[in-house]
Formats: sequence, C-alpha cells, structure tokens
Amino acid sequence: MTEERFDAIVVGAGPSGNAAAYTMAKNGLNVLQLERGEYPGSKNVQGAILYADALERLMPDFREDAPLERHVIEQRIWMMDDVSDTGMHYRSELFNEAMPNRYTIIRAQFDRWFSRRVRDAGATLPCETTVTDLLRDQRNRVIGVKTDRHGGALLADVVILAEGVNGLTGQQAGLREQPRPKDVALAVKEMHFLPQELIESRFGLRGDEGVVIEAMGTITQGMNRHGVSLRFFIPIANRSRSASVAWWTISPARNRRRTGCWTRSRRTRAWRRCSPDRRSRNTPRT
Ligand SMILES: Cc1cc2nc3c(=O)[nH]c(=O)nc-3n(C[C@H](O)[C@H](O)[C@H](O)COP(=O)(O)OP(=O)(O)OC[C@H]3O[C@@H](n4cnc5c(N)ncnc54)[C@H](O)[C@@H]3O)c2cc1C
Repeated sequence: MTEERFDAIVVGAGPSGNAAAYTMAKNGLNVLQLERGEYPGSKNVQGAILYADALERLMPDFREDAPLERHVIEQRIWMMDDVSDTGMHYRSELFNEAMPNRYTIIRAQFDRWFSRRVRDAGATLPCETTVTDLLRDQRNRVIGVKTDRHGGALLADVVILAEGVNGLTGQQAGLREQPRPKDVALAVKEMHFLPQELIESRFGLRGDEGVVIEAMGTITQGMNRHGVSLRFFIPIANRSRSASVAWWTISPARNRRRTGCWTRSRRTRAWRRCSPDRRSRNTPRT
C-alpha cells in the first residue's frame, strides 16, 4: 500500500478521541481516526453518567440528537459492608432545568452518535483497525502510525493517542507507564431491563428523571430509561486479576441486592442467606 498523509491521526474513538477528532475536523484539518472495535463504543463498559458541561462547550446543540437516557435529579450514596448499610441522598426539583448537567447514557449508543458527528465534521474513521506502533523519522520524531491492517505507513503531522486507560501504544513507545495495580480496578457491568413504569414507580420518578446510586463497599448502580445498570469495581491490587474470580466475588452482592441479605462466615468464608429477621433489617432501601 502507498503512503497516505493526514494533518492528524487520532488513535481511539472513545470520548477523548472523538472530542479531539471533532475539534480538528471542524476546523478544516484532514483527520484520520482509527478504532480497533467493530464500531465506536463496542469496547466500552462505562456506567454511565454524562457530565454535560465539557460536551456542551464542544457541541452546544448536543441535546438535539444525542442518545440521552435520563437526566439525573437525585444522587444516593450508600456505604455497605456484607450485612449492613448506611447512606444519604440529595434530590432537587432544580435539576429539572431546561439544560440539565447530568444524564445517564449507554456508551455503545453514545459513542456511535458522537462518532457520527465526528464523521459529519469531515474526519475519516475506519473501525476494526488497531494501531500497533508509532512511526518515527531519523530524528526520532513521531510521523505516523503502523496498524494491523494497512501494509503501508499512515503519516501525519500530529498523532493523538486517545487509547484509554490501558494505552498499549503509548506504553510501548515509552510515553506512559503501565498502570499500577493500586491505580486501576477491574469493572464488570450488568444491565437489567425493566418496564419504564416500574422504574419510575420504584424510584419516585416522572418522565425522563433519573436517580444515581453509588455504593461503596459492595456494588454501584445506575439507571437508564428502560433498565438499571449494575457496575462492580474491584481494585486489582486487592483482588485476583481473574475475571471468573471477580465474578465469584461479586455474585453474593448481586444476590443480596435481588433477594435480600447474604452473610459470610468468618470461619469458612462461605456465603449463606440471612435468617428472615436479619433480612428485613439489612436489606438496603431503594
Ligand atoms: C465501569 C466503568 C464505569 C464508568 N462510569 C463513568 C461514569 O459514569 N461517568 C464518567 O464520566 N466516566 C465513567 N467512567 C470512566 C470513563 O469510561 C472514561 O473516563 C472514558 O471512557 C475515557 O475515555 P477515553 O476516550 O480516554 O478512553 P476509552 O473510552 O477507553 O476509549 C479508548 C478507545 O480507543 C480504542 N483503542 C485503544 N487502543 C487502540 C489501538 N491501539 N488502536 C485503535 N483503537 C484503540 C478503544 O477500543 C476505545 O474505543 C467509567 C469507567 C468504567 C470502566
């Protein structure tokens, strides 16, 4: 393949890569964006809450067609151990404003929408293309990238690495360090689809209002228009790196949320259901 030259190459089509590619393409630069996933958002598991102010600065009209689920009017915080919990909440009608600041989103849909806007602005985006290395000239300046797909070099005046937290190209090029186990967590996400009316009656909501619940100790929980997202973060430094072990670790917490209270024996470390009298006392309120 012959060499192709661009003003800028952006690696990754998550929010950072999309913001960079959009800004440059909108200002008339010839931008190539490369995404390893099947489509933008296919590799992402974010919860997710969109804090709108940054996007609003970039794209003031984003609310017109972005796939927003609910605007958040209430935040609950729970502190939980295996058998008990305490918490607080903040809810305000003021969050029912014309241009709310926080929304629940589904990243697979949101990233696809954002990426469409980037392409409308003029950038080119081939998916299923992984950047494997940076290209450098004789003076060691970055002049482009190598991919797993293109035989030839992709050259650019600027290369922006927006690969996310586990940026292997950046690490390989010596531009960033490998994340330390104490700084990262393993996250597992689960979505439960429920009738819209059930979500609204259970959480005291109308229309597009939403509630976010953050729980420290066991699980975290978020809400979309037709579903409730559960996200579990397990600090890697404290736990096994194995996903199956992580799943085993969180399963009792999931069951506890669904069916009531579970408790763990200090001696055998085995989980068992609480007795009925403890169950009613220990089940967190929703
Ligand atoms: C479970 C979970 C819940 C979260 N909840 C929230 C939340 O509620 N609100 C919030 O604001 N943030 C949340 N975050 C954080 C948020 O997801 C990140 O801050 C955000 O995704 C970072 O965006 P990014 O564009 O830098 O990276 P990413 O979103 O990780 O995007 C990087 C992209 O680059 C691509 N890529 C990587 N390497 C290559 C390569 N070599 N070649 C080609 N493509 C490549 C990837 O496929 C990916 O699409 C959450 C994160 C997790 C894990």
